[in-house]
Amino acid sequence: MKTKLLSLSHTKRFIERYHADPNFREQVSRDPYRAIIDYNIKADPEEIKALCDTEFTKENENKFSDSTFLRNYWELAEQIRPQKIRSIANSPANSQFKAWRSRQIARTESQFLKPVCDSIIHAPVCFELNKGCSVGCWFCGVAAPRLSDIFFYTPENAQLWREVLELIKELLGEAAGAGFCYWATDPLDNPDYEKFCSDFYEVLGMFPQTTTAQPLKDPSRTRSLLKLAGEKGCPLDRFSILSLKMFNQVHEEFSAEELAFVKLALQNEGSNTTKAEAGRTRKRNLKKAEKDSKTPYQGTIACVTGFLFNMVDRSVKLISPCNASDRWPLGYIVYDEATFSDAKQLKILLERMIGDNMPLTVRQSELMSFRSDLEYESLADGFQLSTNLKTFRFRYDSYLNELGEIIHNGGKTAQEIVSIFDSRNVLPAYIFHNLNLMLEKGVLDDEPKSKLSQILVTS
Ligand code: SF4
Repeated sequence: MKTKLLSLSHTKRFIERYHADPNFREQVSRDPYRAIIDYNIKADPEEIKALCDTEFTKENENKFSDSTFLRNYWELAEQIRPQKIRSIANSPANSQFKAWRSRQIARTESQFLKPVCDSIIHAPVCFELNKGCSVGCWFCGVAAPRLSDIFFYTPENAQLWREVLELIKELLGEAAGAGFCYWATDPLDNPDYEKFCSDFYEVLGMFPQTTTAQPLKDPSRTRSLLKLAGEKGCPLDRFSILSLKMFNQVHEEFSAEELAFVKLALQNEGSNTTKAEAGRTRKRNLKKAEKDSKTPYQGTIACVTGFLFNMVDRSVKLISPCNASDRWPLGYIVYDEATFSDAKQLKILLERMIGDNMPLTVRQSELMSFRSDLEYESLADGFQLSTNLKTFRFRYDSYLNELGEIIHNGGKTAQEIVSIFDSRNVLPAYIFHNLNLMLEKGVLDDEPKSKLSQILVTS
C-alpha cells in the first residue's frame, strides 16, 4: 500500500508540473522518456501521457482500459475531488433551506458550464475568521480587502464560536459539516485557525477543508495542520500556487507523499488553468476593455449557497454563486445580510432569513417575473426560457402560453394571475401548481429587490 501511494503521489507530482510549467509541457511533448528520467518518475511515459492529455486518452481508450497504473491513479484523483463533501452538503435538515438550495443549484446549472457546476459544492455555510487577507493576489475572485483584523481564540470568542456552531448544527444538521473556515481570507493569517477547526470537528463531526496560499509561511505549521486534518478524516486540502517559483519551492519543501491528498490550485502564470472572471480578475479585464462574456468559462469562485459569516464583524450574509456582473461583481448574489451580537440574536436572525428568502411555494402577494438572464419565447402550446446553456420548456397545455405571456409582461402577483384564470374557470390549484414548478426549476426571479440591493447596485 505504502509503495503504491509513493508511486501514485510521484505521478501526481509529475501531472502537477505538467500543468504548472510550460517548459516542462514542451519537454514532455518533445521527449517524454527524457522528461521522466530528468524528474525521476518511475512509470511508463505512455501512461503518463494518458494522464496529461485527455484527447490522447480518448483516442487510445481500449489500450488503457486494463491499465492497473491508470486505475490506481484515478482512484487517488477521485479521493481528492470534492464529491464527498458535496454529498454531505446535499442534505440540509431544514426543509425550507433544502428547497431553496435545490432551486439555486437548478439556476446555476443553466448559468455555468458543466465542469464549473461539477466543481461547486454549494456548501451551506462558511466562516471568515479574519477581516481581509494578507496575501493580496491580483486575481482574487472575491476581491479580498487587506488584512485588518483577526478573530483570536480568546475565551469570549471561543464561547461565541461554539455557540454559533451549535446553532448551525441545530439548523442544518449534518450538512453543516460541509462548511469551511475561510472565504475572502487566508486561513493561515489566523494563528488560532487550528483551534477553531478542532471545535468545528467536535461540534459538526467533520474537520473543515483548508485552502491556503501560504503553505510556505511556516512549513512546520502547515505540516502539523495537514497531519491533524488527515487524522480527523478530512478528505481534501488545497494549496493555491501563485507563481512557478512558489510551485518549485512547494515541491522542494514537501515530499510527494506529504502532498498525496493536497490539491495544488495552479494560479501561476504559464499554468494551463483559466482564471475565474470575477472580483479583481474581472475588474482588470474590464479595464482592458474586455467586455463580460455572456458565458465566461467560469464567472465565479463562489461555492457557498447558504450563510457566509464574518466572525470579526459578527455579520452574516445569505449568498449563492452567479456569474459576476455589475450588480454582483464578486460572483455571488447576496440575498440578505445582517449583524448579530450573540448566538441568541443570531438564531432569531437566521430564522428570519429563512422565512423571508426561502418559501416552499410561491407567495400569493409576490410579483411574478422570470430571471432577467433568461430569454423568453412563446410556443404554440406553452413557452420556453433559455440561456445559451440550457432551455426550460413549459408546454402541452392550452393555458401555459398565456400564463407565460402574463409572467413575461410582469407587474402581476401570483394571486392576481390566479384571479385572471379563475374568471375563466381554471382552478387556482392548477395555476399554483405551474407557478410552483417554475419556482422549483429556478426560473423565477428571486433576486433581492429591497433597499439592500439598491445600495449594492450603486456602491
Ligand atoms: S485569492 Fe485567496 S489568498 Fe489570494 S487574496 Fe484572495 S483570499 Fe487572499
